[in-house]
Amino acid sequence: MFSVHDILSETGPFADCLDGFTVRPQQQQLAQTIAEVLSNDDSLVCEAGTGTGKTFAYLVPVLLSGKRVIISTGTKHLQDQLYYKDLPIVRKALNVPVVTALLKGRANYLCLHRLEYGDENFSYISKEDLSELPMIKQWATQTDKGDLAELTNLPEDAAIRSRIVSSAENCLGQDCSFYDDCFVFKARRKANEAEVIIVNHHLLLADLALRESGFGEVLPKADTIIFDEAHQLPDLASDFFSQTLSSRQFTELFNDTTVAYLTDASDMEEVQDEIRESQTSLRKLRLSFGRKERRSAWNEVFADKEIKEALQDFLDHLITLEKYMDILAERSKSLENCWRRCNNMIEMLQTFMERETEELIQWLETRGQGFLLHQTPLDISAIFQARLAEHGCNCIYTSATLSVAGDFTHFTDQLGLSQTNAQSWSSPFDYQKQALLYLPQGMPEPGESIYTEAVINMALPVIEASQGHAFLLFTSHRAMNEAYRLLAGRIDYPLLRQGDAPRSELLQSFRITKHAVLLGTNSFWEGVDVRGKALSCVIIDKLPFAPPDDPVFRARAAKMQENGQNPFMTYQVPKAVINLKQGVGRLIRDANDYGVLMICDPRLISKAYGKVFLNSLPNMRRSTELADVDEFFFEKMQGDVLSVSK
Ligand code: SF4
Repeated sequence: MFSVHDILSETGPFADCLDGFTVRPQQQQLAQTIAEVLSNDDSLVCEAGTGTGKTFAYLVPVLLSGKRVIISTGTKHLQDQLYYKDLPIVRKALNVPVVTALLKGRANYLCLHRLEYGDENFSYISKEDLSELPMIKQWATQTDKGDLAELTNLPEDAAIRSRIVSSAENCLGQDCSFYDDCFVFKARRKANEAEVIIVNHHLLLADLALRESGFGEVLPKADTIIFDEAHQLPDLASDFFSQTLSSRQFTELFNDTTVAYLTDASDMEEVQDEIRESQTSLRKLRLSFGRKERRSAWNEVFADKEIKEALQDFLDHLITLEKYMDILAERSKSLENCWRRCNNMIEMLQTFMERETEELIQWLETRGQGFLLHQTPLDISAIFQARLAEHGCNCIYTSATLSVAGDFTHFTDQLGLSQTNAQSWSSPFDYQKQALLYLPQGMPEPGESIYTEAVINMALPVIEASQGHAFLLFTSHRAMNEAYRLLAGRIDYPLLRQGDAPRSELLQSFRITKHAVLLGTNSFWEGVDVRGKALSCVIIDKLPFAPPDDPVFRARAAKMQENGQNPFMTYQVPKAVINLKQGVGRLIRDANDYGVLMICDPRLISKAYGKVFLNSLPNMRRSTELADVDEFFFEKMQGDVLSVSK
C-alpha cells in the first residue's frame, strides 16, 4: 500500500498520467497530514500557499480514506471544476471506485412544477425574457440533471431564471406531482448515496442554518467536511446565519398569491384588491428609504417618522392579506403555502417594529429599486460551532489566505476554532527570484482628493516597463472609474475595465489580448488564475480596509470596545491583510511566472500596522526605486527572449 506521500512523488501514478505534474514537497506533506487527520477523526486548519496543489493534496487522502466526506468550495464554478475536472483525474490515477456526487442549491435546478404551472407563472416577465422559454422547454425534455449550468446560452441574469426554479418557500415537496422526477430531489438522493459529495459554501451554510428545515436536512451526515477557500467562511456564515427579508420576497409572494388566487380562489375579489394595495404600499416603503443606495443601522433608519409610518402601513396591508389567505388556505396547497409565507413575513417584520436585541444587529440595505432588512448575529462563532455539532462531523479548513503574519487567531476566533490545530504550508514558488515588491515613494495620503491621480502617475512607468500585462486592483468603483478615465489615451495598451463585460468574458479577453491592462475591483481580487506573461504586474491602489461605516462592522466594533479590545487591530487590520493576500496571490501562479507587485498605499511604510501587512506577504525582494522595476523586467524579458531562441 502506497502512502499519500508516495502517490504524489515522481514514482507515483500522477507522474505517469498527468501532463506537467511536478513533485511538490509541500503538497506531499499537506496530503500526509490530511490523511492522518482523516484517519484520526480530527479537525485541522491548514493554510497552503499559492501553488502548493492543495486540491490534489486533499482529494488523494479523501478518496483513499473510505470515509464519507463533503467538500465545499467557494463558488459554483470551482465546484464544477472540482467535480468534472480534478476529481476524475484523481479517481483515475488512484483507480478507486468511489461514488461521488455534485450537489448545488435548489435555485440551480429546473423546477418541473413551476415550468408546467401554466401561463400565470410567466405573466410578469417581458416578452423578450419570455423568448427563452421554448429553448428551456426543449432542454427540459432532454436533460437528466436539470442543472441550469447546462443552459450555456441562458444569461446568468435572465429574468426567467427565477420563474423556473423553486425556493424553499414555494416548493411543494412530497405533495408535488413531479416529486419522483424532481431534479432537486434526485440530486439530493444521489448525494445521499455518495461517499464524496461536492457542494458549495452557500448550500452548505444554508443547510447548517437549517433554512430548509421544512423539508429536513439537505446534506447527508458525513465523517468530515472539507472547506476549501475557507477564508470566505466568516463573512458568508455571517450572511447565512442572518435572517433577511427582502422586497423581492414580498414581490414573489404577491406574484405567487395572484397565480394561486386566479387558479383556486377567483371568487374572492378582495384578495386581488388587497394584493394591489400591498404592492403600492411596498413601493412607498421603498421610496421612504431614499433613492441613494445605503447600508444603515436600523435604529438610525427607524428614527425617521416617515419610514416608521410607511412600514406600519405596509405591515397593516400584509396583516389584512393574511386574514383573507387564512380563509382560503384550505382550498389548495399553493394557497396554503402563500398563507404560511405571509404569516412568517409578518412575524419578522414585526421584530423590526418592536424588538431591539443584544445578540442581533438589525440593519437596512437598499439596492436599486429593492431593499433588504437583515438581522445579523453579533457573534457567529457559537452558532457556527453549534450547527456543525448538529452535523456531528470533523472539519478541515483550507485556503491560501488564513493567517495574518503567521497567526491564525483572526480566522479561528471568528468561527470558534481556537482549539483546532492550525498549520501553514508555504508556497513552493521562489518569490525572491520570481517577484519584486515595489513601494513607490512620495504618495499622498489615501484620503486626499489627488490620490487616484497620484496612483496613475506612479503606475504609468511601471505599466510601460511591464509592457502592459497588468492588473490594477482598486478598493472602490469610484477610484477604478477615475483611474480608467486618467489612463485612457495615455497608454498604448488595450484597456479593459470591470463592468464593461461579464467577468469571465473580460478575463478571457485579458488572456488572449496581447499587452492588456485590466482595471478591477472586488471580484478580481480573488479567484482569478492567469498564468504566464499575460499577467506580470499587479498594482494595488490602497490597503483593502472594509468600510468603517458598515453597520455590521460598527456593531461588532462597539462590542469589541466594550470587551476592552482594539477593533482596528483585532478585526479591521487582519481582515484587510487577508484581502490583500488574495489580491497579491493573482501575480505568481506557477513556478515559471514572474512579476512586479506594486502597492501604492503609503501607510504600508508610514504606519506601525504596515508591518503586519508586509510580514504577511510572500517573502519577495522589496524596493522603493522605479529603476529596480525597470531592471527586473529587463532581465526577465531578456530571459524570455533567450529561452525562445534556444
Ligand atoms: S418538488 Fe419542489 S422543486 Fe421539485 S418540481 Fe415540485 S415544486 Fe419543483
